[in-house]
Amino acid sequence: MAANPEGVKAVTSTDHEQAQGIMLRDNVRTIGQMIRLYTNKNGTLNGTDYPDGSNSSEYLVQPTTYLPENFTYGQDGPCPERLPSMKGLMEVNVTEIPMEEMELKFSKVFDIDFGGHWKPKDCRPRWKVAFLIPFRNRHEHLPILFQHLIPMLQRQRLQFAFYVIEQSGSQPFNRAMLFNVGFLEAMKDLDWDCMVFHDVDHIPENDRNYYGCGQMPRHFAAKLDKYMYILPYSEFFGGVSGLTVEQFRKINGFPNAFWGWGGEDDDLWNRVHYAGLNVTRPEGEIGKYKSIPHHHRGEVQFLGRYKLLRYSKERQHLDGLNNLHYSPHTSLSSLYKNISVELSPELAPIADY
Ligand code: UDP
Ligand code: MN
Repeated sequence: MAANPEGVKAVTSTDHEQAQGIMLRDNVRTIGQMIRLYTNKNGTLNGTDYPDGSNSSEYLVQPTTYLPENFTYGQDGPCPERLPSMKGLMEVNVTEIPMEEMELKFSKVFDIDFGGHWKPKDCRPRWKVAFLIPFRNRHEHLPILFQHLIPMLQRQRLQFAFYVIEQSGSQPFNRAMLFNVGFLEAMKDLDWDCMVFHDVDHIPENDRNYYGCGQMPRHFAAKLDKYMYILPYSEFFGGVSGLTVEQFRKINGFPNAFWGWGGEDDDLWNRVHYAGLNVTRPEGEIGKYKSIPHHHRGEVQFLGRYKLLRYSKERQHLDGLNNLHYSPHTSLSSLYKNISVELSPELAPIADY
C-alpha cells in the first residue's frame, strides 16, 4: 500500500505531480547507478549464493549458476538455494477457484500438515519462514495465492507456514498492525527465523524469487504488472517484503498508527533505514508479480499518512511491537492458521512526541 497508488485509486493532481517528480528523480538515479556499475564490475555477495539484489545490481546480467539436473544433496546438509527445479518464469493463473475445490485438487500434491506447515525431508531447510497475510473480505484471492506459492516454496526447499491475520470490527483496515499481531502470534508457534509480509493479491511470477531472508531486509515484489513492471519509486517497499526476526525486532516492527490505505510500507522503509539497514531486491525478471485486480470495496485512504511519515524517526521506538495489545481468536484450517483480531487505536497507545 504505497503512498502513491497511481492508477489504483483516484489521485489528486498534487499526488500525481509528486509521483511524477519521484519518477524523474529515480530515472536520474538509475542512470548514475548504471554508470557506476559499468565502471566497477566487482559485485559483492551478501552471504548467500545470491548476489545483492539492491537497486544498483538490477542491471547485472542474471548469473546462470543453477545447479545441474542430476545434482544430489544429503539429508543432513543444508538445502541448496538454486535447485534445478527452479525454472524461472511460471504460468500464473488468476482464475477464481473456491478454497475447497483447490484443496481437493491439490491436497495430495501439497502434502502439507493441517494448519499449513511444511518442511523438506531431503535436506535441512536454510530458513524457517512464516508467511503473514493481512486479510479482510478478500476470500477469492486466498486460494489463488496458495495454489501458486505452495509448489514454489516446496521447490525452494524452505520450511514454512501460513498465517492469515484477519481484521474484524468496523475500524479502517490496518495492514501494518495486522502484521505486528501476526508476528507475535507466529513466534508463539515456532522459532521462525524469517518473516515474509505478503499481500494476498500478489502472485509471484518467477520461482527463482527465493523467499528466504538475508543480511538485509528484502523487498520481493520489485516489479508489479500493475506498475508496468517498473519500480514506482526507489523507496517503494510495498506488496511483499521480508525481514529476519532479529531485523524486525530491531526496527520495532511496523507502525500501528496507519488506519486505512497507504503509507505504512513507506514508514517501514524509513524504520529500516533509521536502524542502519538497507533493502535488497531480486534482479531483473525474478522480482515480477501479478496483482489480482480488485476493487476497494468501501475502504478508506489514510489521509494522515504524509504527516506521520515526516515523524517516522521520532515514532519508531514509541509505536510498534512495544506498545501493542490485542486479543486474538485463532483457528486452524488445512492450509493456514487464521488469526482473527478486532483492532482499534486504543490497542496501541502512544504518548505525545
Ligand atoms: N487487504 C484486505 N482487505 C482489505 C484491504 C486490504 O485483505 O479490505 C489486504 C490484502 O492482503 C491486500 C493488502 O491488504 O492485498 C493490501 O491492500 P490493497 O490490496 O487494498 O492495496 P493496493 O493493492 O491497492 O495497494
Ligand atoms: Mn492490492
